[in-house]
Amino acid sequence: MAKKRVIILGSTGSIGRNTLDVLEAMSDEWDVVGLAAAGLRAAELAQQANRFRPETVAIAHADRAPQLQAQLDGKPTVLAGESALLDLIDTVHCDCVVSAVVGTGGLRATLRAAELGRRIALANKEVLVTAGSLLMPLAERSGATVIPVDSEHSAIFQALHAGESADVERIFLTASGGPFRTWSDESIEDATLEDALNHPTWDMGPKITIDSATMMNKALEIVEARWLFDLTHDRIDVIVHPESIVHSLVEFRDGSMIAQLGSPDMRTPIQYALTYPRRLPCGSERLDLTAIKRLNFHPPDPERFPAIQLGHDVAQRGGTAGAVLNAANEAAVDLFRKGLVRYRDIADQTKRALALHEFKPTPSLDDLLQVDRWAREEVTRCTAC
Ligand code: MG
Repeated sequence: MAKKRVIILGSTGSIGRNTLDVLEAMSDEWDVVGLAAAGLRAAELAQQANRFRPETVAIAHADRAPQLQAQLDGKPTVLAGESALLDLIDTVHCDCVVSAVVGTGGLRATLRAAELGRRIALANKEVLVTAGSLLMPLAERSGATVIPVDSEHSAIFQALHAGESADVERIFLTASGGPFRTWSDESIEDATLEDALNHPTWDMGPKITIDSATMMNKALEIVEARWLFDLTHDRIDVIVHPESIVHSLVEFRDGSMIAQLGSPDMRTPIQYALTYPRRLPCGSERLDLTAIKRLNFHPPDPERFPAIQLGHDVAQRGGTAGAVLNAANEAAVDLFRKGLVRYRDIADQTKRALALHEFKPTPSLDDLLQVDRWAREEVTRCTAC
């Protein structure tokens, strides 16, 4: 059997690295034919290329290309510059694209992969939040399968196989609750960057870890689920589950709830997205339910975590709202990481941008990118306001 060909967009990030570990263990079935990264870790990108020998390496920051070139052992084609990721998808044939660029940097390339009918292992929630209204119809037309890597959505995707989509009553996205789950309203006011980066169960990149602290990740995931599974916002619930063992649940109309459980290890959903519908042995740790003994579930607190309501509002509105939610939050998180705004301002600024923006119900990609730019500028401009 011919090996499957895979391209990884965002190979030097947390998901990208885990994906390469998964692929290394399945190297008799998979060939890494393309690697792409923004390029801030050019040396690591070069090491990955030396290890996996892809045909093409793409680096978005053109000024980092010489550093990359200098450290490459082999002679892969190197694409550099703003359109490098898109060019990689256009020029290198593959069976599967792992979309794992943090932020909107992978947007055009992922849309093109959908257009070309590739399997998309989607780890980049920004693509769906910003442009789900474009991605899903493109995939539908070309026959591309979009398989979520996000642990909650992977769980839902798996649980949905237990019934017909018409019989789904609602879904529950589980949330660890982040580091501030048990903090009082007053102490959250003074939360520092260090506090927000201290995640109890998952080991992830800094942007996603802060999103987990604000629970903005659940807001993004509500919107993500709305597009992936074609559900209205009122069928999507968030439930706090501190152990991060139940990765999410589907409730069918007969009252049956189907859940997916596993140790909190991204390699499982990554591997499943690659091998679906097959299941292969995976390096993640096995659950010992008798050692875990008990699993806890609580409703989220809308007062302390106002972001969740923003997710519902945006999922209901559709159109350009998702692009604003994503971009405003990204800009606010960036300011928070630089110490320029307080923790609370992340949700407040995002809410303000959503209220202010010029809403379009059926945006084009250009509209979405324009709104994305506007929201970032608006939040950054308002640092002093
Ligand atoms: Mg998630």
